[in-house]
Amino acid sequence: MGTKRAAPRRLRLSPTKISAWLACHLQYKFTYIDRLSRYYYKPNRGDTFGASMHRALQMFHEAGGVESITREQFEETLRLSWTSTGYKDAEEEKAYLERGRHIVQKYYDAHVASAGKGALARTLFTEKQLSHSYADFSLIGRLDRLDEREDGTLEIVDYKSNLTEVSEADVHASLAMACYALLVGKRYPDRPVVASIVGLAGGCSASTTFSSEEMDVLEEEIKEIARQIIAVEEYEPNYSPACLDCIFARICYPDGVVDWESRRKEYEASREGAW
Ligand code: SF4
Repeated sequence: MGTKRAAPRRLRLSPTKISAWLACHLQYKFTYIDRLSRYYYKPNRGDTFGASMHRALQMFHEAGGVESITREQFEETLRLSWTSTGYKDAEEEKAYLERGRHIVQKYYDAHVASAGKGALARTLFTEKQLSHSYADFSLIGRLDRLDEREDGTLEIVDYKSNLTEVSEADVHASLAMACYALLVGKRYPDRPVVASIVGLAGGCSASTTFSSEEMDVLEEEIKEIARQIIAVEEYEPNYSPACLDCIFARICYPDGVVDWESRRKEYEASREGAW
């Protein structure tokens, strides 16, 4: 009796996947083909804190924001959303919880001020995945929040928990924000779209718009990346500064020294020999 080969799964590209592919094809393979992250990723306070803040803000907006819940209830929401993993000790966790409480208070007050000026946008959804199908793959992206302003403009809102400053140029340079704008534009083709990053730590925000020409160029680049990923036969390492923060450095540098420049020279020399 023959064994049926499982059909290859359709490629689903997210901004995170695209970034991994652009950083290093081997990192992409370790993460998405071999699924090794669960063995190498260690929870850290930055990620854990960010996830707790995202959950608290999601609950706040889903509950109806300042028009439905009090400042104290919002603070309680943070406590309910809190995760304790990744902190060095109880003292560090306490300091971060205090920082979170401070952020929540400022966030609440800013929304009360906007409501007072009649400038509060309507939240259409929070933490939702959008997707768009192309011939050979799908582009997906998980939005923190999508608002609708009074004039009908749609605003993509992305939270960065530890960010203290952000500029329009930062938002414009963000691959994730451009992908979200592309996805929102596909879903709501007749609506103007604004993309905003909110730096929670600094109580700051910046917004940008992408032209239709920029969206066309991005779309072609994403299609090209999808073509490369579908056709790849060998996942090459990219020995580069990216190795310094890569969770798989233990695999690529088993002696523990991340000397990417030497490793790149050796690798390039070995590739020359292969030709
Ligand atoms: S350590 Fe460097 S070469 Fe190895 S997977 Fe990570 S980024 Fe790629």
